[in-house]
Parts: sequence; structure tokens; C-alpha cells
Amino acid sequence: MFCGIFSFLSSEFCVLRSVLCVLCSAFWVLSSGCTTSPKVSSLNQVFASLPSSGPRQSPILPTDNEQILRGNIGQYAVRTAANESYGMPGWSRNNGTRFHEGVDIQPVSWTESKYKMKVACKDPVTGRLTSRLQNVRIPKDRIYAVLDGIVVITSTNPARSGYGKYVMIEHAWSDGTPFLTLYAHLSSIHVKEGQSVSQGALIGIMGQTAKDAASREYLRANPHMHFEVGRLIDPDGSSFGNKYDPRNMQPFQPIDFLERYNSISHREWAAKKSPRAPMLATVAAH
Ligand SMILES: [Zn+2]
Repeated sequence: MFCGIFSFLSSEFCVLRSVLCVLCSAFWVLSSGCTTSPKVSSLNQVFASLPSSGPRQSPILPTDNEQILRGNIGQYAVRTAANESYGMPGWSRNNGTRFHEGVDIQPVSWTESKYKMKVACKDPVTGRLTSRLQNVRIPKDRIYAVLDGIVVITSTNPARSGYGKYVMIEHAWSDGTPFLTLYAHLSSIHVKEGQSVSQGALIGIMGQTAKDAASREYLRANPHMHFEVGRLIDPDGSSFGNKYDPRNMQPFQPIDFLERYNSISHREWAAKKSPRAPMLATVAAH
């Protein structure tokens, strides 16, 4: 049974959201989702403008979920029974009162565990919220570096952050200004801090790790990889203790980032990288 569709971009919602944006920038909303501890700056809750110059390469998608390229939100962003926009970036949560810095990308590859859990679900006939038992899915998607960069954080202890095990990579726009990508809730990490990675490098495997129990529960019911793109709020990081603290990131809208700079799938990228072997010239026998 499919769990409900809601229309969330109604004009009423947009007006409400605008009002709440102003109100919410004044205080911190503790969350059980994809954030770490309370944010230190309100810039964490406003998307920065993407530079027109862009990166030197076109990004590739961070997972093999190619529905992002087709704009099929329902096929790539996590939704819950009560909120179809739950996995989308922006003021998508708690009736528009909680900001989500990244996008929660659904897996395209998983195994089903024998364990079942109760998940909320919308009855397609009555529209009422109900629940059903579902086998817990264990995601297996590969996670890729979207651009060339340097790995600046590998957080391997899932108990340390709402992001669970996560990787942060520093890249540069074409004018040399740095920016960051962050890949969260991984099950394993395949890179090391300080390592240079090329675009398309396998950096980890999608997982369901998070510090707090409520987030882990959400991840069990709705497996995903939280993908974030951002710039440094404080370039030397002194006010955060660590330059590469996720709280020092002002996010860019990650779907806009992928669309604006013409991202391609990992599959397409791999095909371009390894062109067919050249045809051998044949010489007729004399
Ligand atoms: Zn998230």
C-alpha cells in the first residue's frame, strides 16, 4: 500500500512558510532529524545563492537514484505518511516550522531484513492515517563524490552526530572559492580525512546511522542518504572551534545545485569516462 500524497506547495502553505521563516530564524528548533546540536548561526536556516560561475566540472549525482534528473520528487525524496515533502530541503518539516538543510535521497538498492516494524501509512480510500507492518529495508546504495575535492571530515562514530557516520568534502568553484558537500547516515565510509578524491569516487555506502533514537527510527522506516551542499559561514572557523564543523555551513539548495550545473548520473559519467575501444583499422590483404 502506498503511503499518501499531499499537496504541499499550496499558496496558503507558502504564505504560512514565509511567516514562519521570519519567526523561526529568531530561535533554535531542536530536531530529531538530520541536524547536529543546536545551530549557532541563523545562516544555517537560509539557503545561500548559488554562484553563476559554478564549479569547473558538472556535478554527478551522489547516489544512483536518477529520478533527481527527471524531477520526480516522489521517487527520490523521502516522504512520510503525514508529510510528503519531509525529505525535501527547506522549511519542509513540522508544519513548516523546521528547516531541513539537505535532501533525503531514497535508496534504489536494498535488502529486506526479516525484522518488521510498524510504519505510519495513509489509507488511500479514507485518507486517514493508519499503520502497517513493513520489513525493515537495509539500503545498499553506493555514495559518490559529486566533484573532485579533498575529504575534510570522516565522522566514523555514529553516536557523535545527528548525521551518524558522515563525510564532508571540500571543493572549489571555478573562481577558487571553497564550498562543501556532506553525505550523512552512512553505514560505512571508504575514504580518509585529507585524501584527495576524484569525482565519482566511492566514498561510502548508504546506511541508517544517527546519534538519537528518534532519527534512527525514522531512518529504519525511511532509509535515505542526507545530502547537503554549503559554504563556510566563518572562513577560519574560530567561532565554531573547527572550520569544518557542520554548524559552520550555510547550505545551498542541493537540488538547485544539481540542476543548475547540469549534473549527470554516475552511469552516464562512467560511460563518458571509458569510451568504447577504438576500432582496429583493417588492412586488406594484398
Ligand atoms: Zn535529511
